[in-house]
Amino acid sequence: MDKEKLASVNSQLLELRKRLLREVDSAEEALREDIVKPGDITSVATHPADQDVEGLDAQIAVSQNEELLLDQVDAALERIGTGAYGACQQCGGTIDAQRLEAIPYTSLCIDCASGHQDPVEKPVPGEPRRFR
Ligand SMILES: [Zn+2]
Repeated sequence: MDKEKLASVNSQLLELRKRLLREVDSAEEALREDIVKPGDITSVATHPADQDVEGLDAQIAVSQNEELLLDQVDAALERIGTGAYGACQQCGGTIDAQRLEAIPYTSLCIDCASGHQDPVEKPVPGEPRRFR
């Protein structure tokens, strides 16, 4: 991979990293608000808790998923720094350029990834993902 391409991947990853950090932040903030919300016993009693608990679960899932992604993005940035970017971390083969374009933070070639179901191995979302 040439330097120009690598530089553009690098800035793409940095952008993604910023976005993920924001998403993690806002998910955690939402979580805190839900937990810290002063307990109004009467409103809790009149509203079945199920819905709130489900919302909380979804927020936890969002924040955990974003953190996993962040780890992958960080690792990819590190690989750019060490010159290992674009090499499969499992078999050492070259990761397909098209695959890197779709998933710039991937660490596995398509062969290794398909035998290795990683829930984070998804194309970069263009919009915030929806859960449920
Ligand atoms: Zn591989």
